[in-house]
Amino acid sequence: MLDLRFVKEHVDLVKENVRNRFMEVDVEGVVALYDRRNDLKARVDELRARRNEHARLMKSASPEERPALVEEGRRLKEEIARLEGELAAVEEELRREALRIPNLSHPEAPVGKEEKDNLEIRRWGEVPSFDFEPRDHLELGRLLDIVDFDRAAKVSGAKFYYLKNEGTLLELALIRYALDVLREKGFDLFTTPDLARESIVEGIGFQPRGAESNIYTVEETDLCLVGTAEITLGGMYADEIIPGQALPLRFAGLSHCFRKEAGAAGQYSKGLYRVHQFTKVEMFVYCRPEESEGMHRELLAIEEEIHAGLGIPYRVVDTCTGDLGAPAYRKFDLEAWMPGREGWGEITSTSNCTDYQARRLGVRFKEAEGGKPRFVHMLNGTALAVPRVIIAILENFQERDGSVRIPEALVPYTGFDVIRPKA
Ligand code: AMP
Repeated sequence: MLDLRFVKEHVDLVKENVRNRFMEVDVEGVVALYDRRNDLKARVDELRARRNEHARLMKSASPEERPALVEEGRRLKEEIARLEGELAAVEEELRREALRIPNLSHPEAPVGKEEKDNLEIRRWGEVPSFDFEPRDHLELGRLLDIVDFDRAAKVSGAKFYYLKNEGTLLELALIRYALDVLREKGFDLFTTPDLARESIVEGIGFQPRGAESNIYTVEETDLCLVGTAEITLGGMYADEIIPGQALPLRFAGLSHCFRKEAGAAGQYSKGLYRVHQFTKVEMFVYCRPEESEGMHRELLAIEEEIHAGLGIPYRVVDTCTGDLGAPAYRKFDLEAWMPGREGWGEITSTSNCTDYQARRLGVRFKEAEGGKPRFVHMLNGTALAVPRVIIAILENFQERDGSVRIPEALVPYTGFDVIRPKA
């Protein structure tokens, strides 16, 4: 959510930002509601002051004065009740509409509508060239007997999978590898709840319900299955004031992630690329506003270190305005080379959400020297999302016979350096 006074004072800028993000939000309608809310509040405050004055007069009124005063008291009470009802309704509508305004965008974020408008910043690593016909990860998974989609489809439906044998150990190795990198960098490590309240999910900026929502909800509760540990790490300090000296807070959260992914079909989404449930290590940072751009670069550098450490060829892209999603002010993605699609596929994403989520959730900080509490800046980034990294490892490090070499940095965690086809 943006500061509403800022919106009122910068209507044109906010409208241009909404246009650049290809969203539909009635900014002027929000300003009109904001003005109406302020008028109503001023009138309610004035009537409440009159009611207090009236109560004072009642105490010293003579018997002759009392009937008129009683009548006025009754009218005041009715009028206050009516306006309070109206104020509550306008405030609710204002809150609902204001939540739809997206965050501002970094002035350097490329303006554009979709993925093709993202800006490539740099590349790392060698795209492999094979002297044999390379297999895609579905075929390799079957050949190596480490992934089973068919039985998962029977038990849970399409876009689910079992990891098996070395596949199971590979997932655990990747998690532990990422957590060790983050621990070394001073992150606090969490295993986070896989379910969260709707109010927190909404505060982070997701739509918990509705046809467009990517979030599963649990019937007869106010709980959602989290799509990312960003939700649970970002909700931890809702309605709290963090002591300034504790900042920046660097957290890493290990969770399952659940996504409906309705309508996401086609060859680019096949296999492990777009599934309903996966495991991810997420980074989350709370910091002072003046620190957030530096923190964002730090998160991107860690993502690069983790994936370069595995030898996965990748490129970094600066995400265009239309692809930022409402909370992000700026977003960088890492895209890995995936031979199975003969192209790049997103493996990480890091966003600086500035104070957008903090305002919605009420997360502030206060310096030890005093001063007023201010909203923190909140950032997130994928340390390692397991399924797409498995795709990158299988497809980039395959051999002619279907064997797959394990990146050296992972071997201490897997205990094996190659996965061979099963007979
Ligand atoms: P996001 O939280 O949407 O920015 O996604 C973070 C990372 O999680 C992506 O870069 C992917 O590596 C991974 N990811 C997102 N959605 C899926 C999915 N449905 N299936 C598998 N991996 C996913």
